[in-house]
Amino acid sequence: MPELPEVETVRRTLEERLKGLKITALDVPKPTFYRKPPKKALGGLVGRAVEGVDRRGKYLIFRLSGGRHLVLHLGMSGRIVFGERGPHTRFQLSVEGRTVSFHDARRFGRVGCDLPEFGPEPLGPDFTADALYRAVHPRRAPVKALLMDQAVVAGLGNIYATEALYAAGVRPGRRGSSLSREESRRLCASIKAVLGLAVSLGGSTLEDSAYLDPLGRAGSFQERVAVYGREICPRGHALRATRRPIAGRTSLYCPVCQK
Ligand SMILES: [Zn+2]
Repeated sequence: MPELPEVETVRRTLEERLKGLKITALDVPKPTFYRKPPKKALGGLVGRAVEGVDRRGKYLIFRLSGGRHLVLHLGMSGRIVFGERGPHTRFQLSVEGRTVSFHDARRFGRVGCDLPEFGPEPLGPDFTADALYRAVHPRRAPVKALLMDQAVVAGLGNIYATEALYAAGVRPGRRGSSLSREESRRLCASIKAVLGLAVSLGGSTLEDSAYLDPLGRAGSFQERVAVYGREICPRGHALRATRRPIAGRTSLYCPVCQK
């Protein structure tokens, strides 16, 4: 599933190519809305200029003239491409001679016109060690599930939560309430470092996600993962899976490096 670094990479590519251009047509042949917009809302976006493309968590937000927005979530394996409609196109936007299509065979992607609400952006100034501690400390859920809760911090999924927990030396199954201030500080710093590196490498393209950016370029963070999908950690210890799945997924950790 595309997480913050992949969505950020898509955002940059789209903004580079679409900023300042006017929407000339909008077609949503098989829509799946995260919140159904009023009937004419999507049609009312035609003729507006793309002032920028923003990202909030894992959502892409086309910022349009007149204070309007067009919001897209890529879902599990949705892809944005420059080009024409295919059998799995859920959404197609024409912008002065360019066509942008959203292909989504598995239909987990979402479209809408309202800005979604989330917790802090992990790479922004509001996400601090103190904010993280205050969000997780009252909770008994596994810390990894809390990191993947978009209200605690926006944009993290399985891959980057796994990597950040390894980098911070914290086991994924620990209860939020067991985290010390020092561990929260390390975890906050690790989240920022892992995401920052992944954004600079264009995200991750793993076999099971097959993520590619709108120009068909793969990311390369998968060559730098410490734990996700591996059998031993970078220091040579055998990895272990948590006894219970966390947020529906098997969670790997190093029983020596992570406490
Ligand atoms: Zn280890």
